Amino acid sequence: MYTWEELEQFVNNCRACPLCHTRKHPVMGRGDHKGKLMLVAEAPGSQEDLAGIPFVGPSGKVLDELLAAAGIRREEIYITNILKCHPPGNRDPLDREKEACIPYLKYETYLLKPQAIVCLGRVAAQRLINPDYRITRQHGTWIERKGCFLTATYHPSALLRDPSRLEEAKRDFQAIGEKLRHLERAKK
Ligand code: SF4
Repeated sequence: MYTWEELEQFVNNCRACPLCHTRKHPVMGRGDHKGKLMLVAEAPGSQEDLAGIPFVGPSGKVLDELLAAAGIRREEIYITNILKCHPPGNRDPLDREKEACIPYLKYETYLLKPQAIVCLGRVAAQRLINPDYRITRQHGTWIERKGCFLTATYHPSALLRDPSRLEEAKRDFQAIGEKLRHLERAKK
């Protein structure tokens, strides 16, 4: 069994797919290693590639707004991506890149053991919930898998492009906050 530090070292040294040639920094997940909530997006954007940190810049500000709607602080959750390296031009991740990188996400999930996972955007939802997932129709619905609850909502970058969806996403996050509080109460 590997530690979080060892996992980060593996990611930092990874050359398992061609994105290792174009990335500036690999972007390992960040946050509370005892967090009950895991957010999973598709891949680091260009700002994250420069900083080596997930959700910085304008999309990070949108994410903070969504978390505030849920009454959740960023420090108490864990945020990661399916790909740990930035795809050039922000293109969608290729299947072979996702398959090369998914073991890291699986290991993050194994170490964290979250009570809930929220997919941010279509790519993460289709990889983690259902290959046919339609974010505009199905966002905010929950499924349970091995005791962990999964849902999806819009990616913060998509909300920057289309702010008319922001209120829907905030409502999803309010429900996510409620779900976590409900799960916490059920444990007592
Ligand atoms: S995207 Fe994932 S598999 Fe590809 S080089 Fe980066 S860490 Fe390795």
